[in-house]
Amino acid sequence: MHYDYAGIRRLVERQEFLQAPVKHWKYWMFYPVSDLQKVVSMHEGGTALIKSRKSKDFWLKFEGVNPTGSFKDRGSSIEITKAIEKGEKEVLCASTGNMGASIAAYAARAGIKARIFVPKFASLEKIRQIQAYGASVKRVEGTYEHSLEETKKIHKKTGAYLTGDYHYRAEGQKSVGFEIIDQLGWNAPENIVCPVGNGTLLFAVFKACKELQKVKLLEKMPRIFGVQASGCNSIRDGKIFPVKKPKTLASAIDCGNPVYGLEVLKALKESKGKIIAVSDKEMAQGMKALASEGIFAELSGAASLAGALKEKLQGKTVCIVSGHGLKESRKYY
Ligand SMILES: *Cc1c(COP(=O)(O)O)cnc(C)c1O
Repeated sequence: MHYDYAGIRRLVERQEFLQAPVKHWKYWMFYPVSDLQKVVSMHEGGTALIKSRKSKDFWLKFEGVNPTGSFKDRGSSIEITKAIEKGEKEVLCASTGNMGASIAAYAARAGIKARIFVPKFASLEKIRQIQAYGASVKRVEGTYEHSLEETKKIHKKTGAYLTGDYHYRAEGQKSVGFEIIDQLGWNAPENIVCPVGNGTLLFAVFKACKELQKVKLLEKMPRIFGVQASGCNSIRDGKIFPVKKPKTLASAIDCGNPVYGLEVLKALKESKGKIIAVSDKEMAQGMKALASEGIFAELSGAASLAGALKEKLQGKTVCIVSGHGLKESRKYY
């Protein structure tokens, strides 16, 4: 994606930009969207950066308060806007649940059809949510990989628009990164910690920081850490080792062969971060720790805090709490 960063620089150095409240579309100049009159939006983003009361120097970016309960809405706003720009009438999406719910909501908002493909392990809550928005859901046997293959097959057959962990989504999910830096007064924290499923979120946060450096709104690159479930730890020792049969209850990060794996490796290397692997039990403890200070996250959403605690990160640390606890009714602790 090519942007005119000199042009963007002139827009973002203005006081009215710098001081405007944080929200996803504040950063429209960094998105591949030409007509702002036609955007499909439900006021995604603008989520609070909450100071932890229990872990010193930790801040929690609670993405569960987005319109459909996860950060996916930031990417879906761009993806569905692009689908509308292109005159599409139907979209397809492979998902472990949250992206499907998000795409279903934005498609409903835009008045187009959505077909969502989920693995059998997707929670009933997420499936009900997708159906509530009027989308069709197909539960596919096997792993997330199988749902993705099925979706691509239908795309080939019908030509319906393919949404998912692709370019436009990554561009949209940058706003998590923009907002964090903005909320810290245009300064980087020492560390940003992201859960990693397909790796799109981590890559998007890294790209956001790079772009803010390009327009001189950010000096230092924060260290970016990714957290994977130990039963789905595909990124290790600077390489990708696809996991054929992942074993974790953290459904939102249960992706054995991360679509953005190579980009994650690049981001880790350049930002001097790394992947931290945590067990389901450690995530459940993270969930409990979050709930004890008033934040209800789903298991994958607690991965970031669990990883940051396990790694004993020092200095100002932002953990992205990626999804709402109401998304899954299972009892983890
Ligand atoms: C999608 C999702 C993730 C993983 O994000 P990726 O971009 O696939 O790495 C983590 N947590 C929650 C709650 C999610 O919905």
